[in-house]
Amino acid sequence: MLGLMQSQPLLISGLIEFAERHNGDAEIVSRRVEGDVHRYTYRDAAKRSRQVANALDGLKLAFSDRVATLAWNGYRHFELYYGVSGSGRVLHTINPRLHRDQIAWIANHAEDQVLFFDLSFLPLVQAVHARCTSIKHYIAMCDEDKLPKDSGVPNLISYEKLIAAQSSDYSWPSFDENTASSMCYTSGTTGNPKAALYSHRSSTLHAYAAALPDVMNLSARDSVLPVVPMFHVNAWGIPYSAALTGCKLVFPGPALDGKSVYELIESEGVTFAAGVPTVWQMLLGHMKPANLRFSKLKRTVIGGSACPPAMITAFQDDYKVEVLHAWGMTEMSPLGTLCTLKNKHDALPEAEKMKIRLKQGRAIYGVDLKIVDAGGKELPWDGTTFGDLHVKGPWIVREYFKGEGGDPLVNGWFPTGDVGTIDADGYLQITDRSKDVIKSGGEWISSIDVENIAVAHPAVAMAACIGVAHPKWDERPIIAVAKKPGMDVSRDELLKFYEGKTAKWQIPDDVVFVDAIPLGATGKILKTRLREMLKDYKLPTA
Ligand code: ADP
Repeated sequence: MLGLMQSQPLLISGLIEFAERHNGDAEIVSRRVEGDVHRYTYRDAAKRSRQVANALDGLKLAFSDRVATLAWNGYRHFELYYGVSGSGRVLHTINPRLHRDQIAWIANHAEDQVLFFDLSFLPLVQAVHARCTSIKHYIAMCDEDKLPKDSGVPNLISYEKLIAAQSSDYSWPSFDENTASSMCYTSGTTGNPKAALYSHRSSTLHAYAAALPDVMNLSARDSVLPVVPMFHVNAWGIPYSAALTGCKLVFPGPALDGKSVYELIESEGVTFAAGVPTVWQMLLGHMKPANLRFSKLKRTVIGGSACPPAMITAFQDDYKVEVLHAWGMTEMSPLGTLCTLKNKHDALPEAEKMKIRLKQGRAIYGVDLKIVDAGGKELPWDGTTFGDLHVKGPWIVREYFKGEGGDPLVNGWFPTGDVGTIDADGYLQITDRSKDVIKSGGEWISSIDVENIAVAHPAVAMAACIGVAHPKWDERPIIAVAKKPGMDVSRDELLKFYEGKTAKWQIPDDVVFVDAIPLGATGKILKTRLREMLKDYKLPTA
């Protein structure tokens, strides 16, 4: 017997319709590429999203055609999130930090028909458009009077002119909720990038889950700043969860330096912000010397790479901001786990609570986790046994776009490429990427643990640990360090700093000082490049 409740597909258009009808006057504030601050409401955004949908019809785009963006976090990008997906096309957010060759490659692979771009990316578009053979229309996300003349980009029109000609009357179509809504290519540190193809259903379920109290805890009382980019994994789904909750939304545009982000947090009364550790490092680096404080910021979700304990302590003790450590990946839409404490932890001493907060957290309902050994056998949840982390759930990839890379699943589970432990309470701790873990004398050393200790040293700005071949131990860890400007630490001082903080055999064999740690397109340490930089390096002990 079937239930007798109404059946309504979970569609992305439903989110913006809800926001317009029930939280229409909630604000959306954007720092623009032009440098000024733009304000309007969900009601305005919904209306302009419908104009976008009409404009795409006018461009004769078919159902499921791919529409690409090269854009910062801002209101026009938000309108595209809804106008493109809501009308049944697929929003392909391209990461502008990727190499030009990769951008051209993925635009062709996705068979993008239209490219919307912020003016800051005009030089990039000029460099790649001749190679993007499927793109027929280029839209600069600006006012008509800002449209560059003689840019050399074919069929270039301004966003404002495109939508001004359109009616805001539009009925969002209804279709199967499993239809593709957006896509995002993984950064592809090895081989060609592969695309995760999200659906309306997966994105809506993820939006519900992300808003839960034990996840981002978003509500209509919040002012939310996604510093995480809308060009990578849908800004962790915040543009969808925001419309679902009716929170105030604050978009930082291209200004991600500590000063700009701090000023926006203060001027817009931001209560919740989401970002990767490298961005928060810039924020804290700006605040500390000037002795600045937050007036309203209460929570921040930090993920994308391991959040150093020193950062959690700084936010919590110096600024009274709760850090929620999160783990996920492109293939998971991206949220997998988030770290909040349980009722039974309430009476624990602060130091014990901190030990839990450092972990990547518990699975969100909708995500199942397991750790397995090399033979695929499930390993115990004891907090010490580590294994390959496998996941499954309704917002986790089943297959990559166009079947690239074959069937990624192992017995129905997606192997994440991460290694971790899970404790008896279900808290996941990521030890490492499986390719970065250091295998020393039959034992494994977590490069994350080695890095976390180094960045706790006051003179260290950033640190990256890699394994180097060793005749006796197979591999030994070394740590590459970029110092804070004007600060100093010697090799021996830093190695001494490790004593008592970790087992002796886990202390790196050497310290290599570098001007800057190489970062990839998503702000993560690019260990492949670091290994290349240090290819002639010889261990002092080897
Ligand atoms: P890409 O490298 O393609 O940008 P993602 O942005 O999807 O990929 O990154 C996913 C990976 O980032 C995870 O598999 C994991 O290795 C790492 N990661 C994400 N969050 C955390 C975290 N909180 N702690 C440690 N590693 C993390």
